Amino acid sequence: MNTPTNAMKPPLLFLTALCAISAACADDKTPNNAKTDKKMDSNKPEVVKTDAEWMKKLTPEQYRVTRMKGTERSNGPEYEKFNAQGEGTYYCVCCGAELFTSKEKFHSGCGWPSFYDQSKAKNVKETVDADGMRIEVTCKRCDAHLGHVFDKEGFPTPTNRRFCINGVAMQFVPKGGQAPKLEEVTSASVQKKKGDVAREAGVDLKK
Ligand SMILES: [Zn+2]
Repeated sequence: MNTPTNAMKPPLLFLTALCAISAACADDKTPNNAKTDKKMDSNKPEVVKTDAEWMKKLTPEQYRVTRMKGTERSNGPEYEKFNAQGEGTYYCVCCGAELFTSKEKFHSGCGWPSFYDQSKAKNVKETVDADGMRIEVTCKRCDAHLGHVFDKEGFPTPTNRRFCINGVAMQFVPKGGQAPKLEEVTSASVQKKKGDVAREAGVDLKK
């Protein structure tokens, strides 16, 4: 991991502004507006579960954040854990896909885990929010909500991007540890069936 240095810390005023932006994600109840994203059909998640299945697999907080687009509180226990973690890999808590590594971790001072780049772009999807203001970050395999990405904030990282990620959405495995089991790809017919069940329950899986 990149050791935070004083040189990396942005000025206080700047930080305050950043945190205001991040706090805006705290009440993220952006209405699902899947109809505006026609590309989604060719890009839909491989792992599809009903709400009941996700609830069974996840803790209530994991479910709230990843499946309901919630946001964990800033500077909470997940952030403390994140700051204490050393070298390793971060996986999607829902499906086990690799998302980030500690190499891209940096100290933004904002109260949520921050990364400047995704290790495997194929597992991290970026979608502009319905209001066009922010870019939501989700797991490409299972559509878990992870957080948001902010560009050009002036952080001295190679990308000048900040992936602001909920710690509860990720499973950390220290270097040399065993990666979590990947949730199997849901077959097309089951995906369709579960999509129908979800639609009947008023949930649109194609968000
Ligand atoms: Zn996932």
